[in-house]
Amino acid sequence: YNQHLQASEKMEVISSLTASVAHEIRNPLQVTRGFLQLVSEDSNEKNKKFVEIAIGELDRAAEIITDFLTFAKPQLDEVTELNISKELKQIEGIIVPLATSHGGTVFLNIPNDLYICGNSSKLKQALINIIKNSIEAFQKDGQIHIQAHEHNNNVVIQIKDNGAGIEPAQLAKLGEPYFSTKTKGTGLGLMVTFRLIEAMKGTIEFSSQKHVGTEVMIRFPAVSQRPTE
Ligand code: ADP
Ligand code: MG
Repeated sequence: YNQHLQASEKMEVISSLTASVAHEIRNPLQVTRGFLQLVSEDSNEKNKKFVEIAIGELDRAAEIITDFLTFAKPQLDEVTELNISKELKQIEGIIVPLATSHGGTVFLNIPNDLYICGNSSKLKQALINIIKNSIEAFQKDGQIHIQAHEHNNNVVIQIKDNGAGIEPAQLAKLGEPYFSTKTKGTGLGLMVTFRLIEAMKGTIEFSSQKHVGTEVMIRFPAVSQRPTE
């Protein structure tokens, strides 16, 4: 017991250190990005291309930091009643263009009356991480179907793609830190996602078939909508 306590205290120190270092790194990244954009304006086509690549890599670094920050501080800031349909509408602006640029389509079918308890931005981050993986798994004519319904007092969100699928042996590794099959993957997305969903008292389940597609089921305790006073 004593040893366990020490380990968790150590974890807390590491967590808060990670969080502050991540914050400190974000600012210089933003400044560098701004100056690169200025350089790009006065550059020839070849250098513009290089600057574009550099900015892309900076954005990738910023994304990794976002994931680390969440890992370091997975507790939820502000917990409110969330309308699932509304939350998904808000991330449509990110996922639809991303899917289109990868040659695929998103089909959203979410009823209006589903409510859960959680933190809006953390829920959105979890959903975006899952949907991004679907988009990155696109084969030809990629499709993602996102649906939701209520079942046994749970709100069930289903995200289904017709992408590359996951090997049975790899299914067990999902959510392990640094597990990735992508050349530019971090293997942090699902680790963070699992922790966020757990913090909102939810569960997540993957089923997949290689070359056919992947289905993700997320369940949260349902909250019946209270009339606003
Ligand atoms: P990353 O996306 O950086 O690789 P993630 O934690 O988001 O890290 O995902 C880990 C791995 O899980 C991916 O590299 C991929 O192999 C697999 N994966 C997750 N979702 C899907 C999906 N929808 N289709 C195919 N593979 C997936
Ligand atoms: Mg990912």
